Amino acid sequence: MTFLREHMGINMEGFLANARKSYLSSLSNDQIFYAINSACDYFHIPCPVLIQDLTNQKGGCTMFVNYDPKSYWDDVLCYNMRELAKLNVGSLDAFSLIMTHECAHRVLQGIRFEGPNNGSWQNELAADFLMGTRAGFGEIRAIGNVIEGLRNTGGSNTHPKGWLRANFIRHGVEVALQLKKTGQPVYLDRLMAEYHAYYQAMLPYVKADEKEFF
Ligand SMILES: [Zn+2]
Repeated sequence: MTFLREHMGINMEGFLANARKSYLSSLSNDQIFYAINSACDYFHIPCPVLIQDLTNQKGGCTMFVNYDPKSYWDDVLCYNMRELAKLNVGSLDAFSLIMTHECAHRVLQGIRFEGPNNGSWQNELAADFLMGTRAGFGEIRAIGNVIEGLRNTGGSNTHPKGWLRANFIRHGVEVALQLKKTGQPVYLDRLMAEYHAYYQAMLPYVKADEKEFF
């Protein structure tokens, strides 16, 4: 366990003690907190109630654990720096982008996606797209590392193949760069409309890949 954010503040003692164990991470405790906090800020959502460093846990995954789909206040966010470093996404910016993907799952937690396995792939692709939009708006170049890390992953019954994910990320970047030029405020609804339009365009490819897993 890394740290617990309580109503009155953060249990920094626990956070620091556990973060020190992440010896493979080149990120400081402050950087880890900043990376997660800035990902939350992008979506205007509160920090997760619990952040777990699973770097030294066997099989520890980077993921969002959801309890009540109607609440942000019971969300748990886990990360494994060892796995992320292997994918070359252990830098501050790349880690923050990965946390943006996880925070996108938090934002999407109440939304029901159509598709096999309760729309698991669709949920992932939307989270990838939204992560791409943050990279686009913020001109965060580490998105290139994230795409590289994911591009050749083989897919599963929870995650689409990397090539498909890479396309949704890239499209998110492009959409954000276009919207940024307008100078207008952008809301999540607008981004999701862009996601759905792109999903429809990519549907034949999604369906073709789905046949391999479902
Ligand atoms: Zn995900």
